Amino acid sequence: MKLLSGRDTIPEFAAVPDSDWGRWQWQKQHSVTIYPNDCNKARKLATLFRWLDDSNLNLELLSELAEVWAINITPHTALQLVRLRQGGRADWYAQMLKYLLPTRERLDIKVPQQFVREGMGTEERRQSAYRDLPWSVTRLYDNRVVVRASTICAVACQFCFRQHDVAEHHELERNVQNGIKSAIGYVRKWNIENPLRRISDVILSGGDPLSLGDKALGEILAAFKAIGGVELVRIDTKYPAVLPQRITPELVQLLRTFQPIMMSIHFTHPGELCAEVKRACDLLADNGIMLASHTPLLRGVNDDRETLKTLFWNEFVQMRTRPHLLIHTIDTPGTGHFRVPLEQGLDIMRFLEADLSGPAHPLFIVYSTKGGGKIHLLPSPIKNRTSDGWMMDTWVGEEFYADPI
Ligand code: SF4
Repeated sequence: MKLLSGRDTIPEFAAVPDSDWGRWQWQKQHSVTIYPNDCNKARKLATLFRWLDDSNLNLELLSELAEVWAINITPHTALQLVRLRQGGRADWYAQMLKYLLPTRERLDIKVPQQFVREGMGTEERRQSAYRDLPWSVTRLYDNRVVVRASTICAVACQFCFRQHDVAEHHELERNVQNGIKSAIGYVRKWNIENPLRRISDVILSGGDPLSLGDKALGEILAAFKAIGGVELVRIDTKYPAVLPQRITPELVQLLRTFQPIMMSIHFTHPGELCAEVKRACDLLADNGIMLASHTPLLRGVNDDRETLKTLFWNEFVQMRTRPHLLIHTIDTPGTGHFRVPLEQGLDIMRFLEADLSGPAHPLFIVYSTKGGGKIHLLPSPIKNRTSDGWMMDTWVGEEFYADPI
């Protein structure tokens, strides 16, 4: 595949100095970011249409959809989309547009606001067995917590169960600073009072924690790492995929001081993985930051074996990124068209297990709707069991494994 590399793929980007293009703040300031009731919607959509220059896009429809669902496209992402389309990957361009922009399928669906605001489901699900959590903390296990560190993202993923939370970020962001303080206080108090059940793993989530500046992020990391018992901090982010300029040498130096630290990147499609993204991941990996990917399984986007094989083997392994999770999408109104039947997901896992080396195998998970956390699904090789052993499927055929009781 020949991909165009230059910024002049979109004419108005050609004149942008490198010093601007490479700054993540410039990328954010010049993103097309539209939330419902945006009075500048028409102007912003005009910019997006000029960038993409795609006669198949329907301005009237997108304008209607933008009244309900957010749009957030960085200049980097727009450039990558057009590079794909003009460079012979119109199929990848179309697949990526399905989750980057709202589509007609989302229009007819009534959105119960209450449900969407709760994100993964109910308050019981957020708290599970743990009561009196700060609103910024989700806790399903003894040893780990998820902390909302921001409500701002560099993209508006159309499959996201938090889309309405991030869409209303201006209001919510004001509460986040207090939420983080409460989360730090909660973990500190818990670990002092429960020395045998300490929280050892803190996952910063969002929105996207990399929307914070380095100073604010450093203070949060320092506060959690200073708590006795906290051994690992993970950062859940999509920035490297859609705004790789955020991965600066300064950020990487900051992260290095808090080792061990892990970045869980929400890569969705191999079309995201351009040279700039790979450079960002190289910078992180060269500096000892553990990299993993959380990939949602999406119908019409990446629900075929070859796309996932390309992603997990051809790309992630080369980028020193562990394909950690393949996620069955969380049930949220307006995202039904993304859902892949579980049986199809298991079929894909069977293929990946047979065809890819171990380092390229993700865990296939669904989220419990009752607060039970992640459920790992495995294609079972067991056909039946007798008193003498087990009959199993293997890639060379059925096999009896003796295991007398
Ligand atoms: S980056 Fe994450 S939180 Fe933000 S819209 Fe995408 S999936 Fe949702």
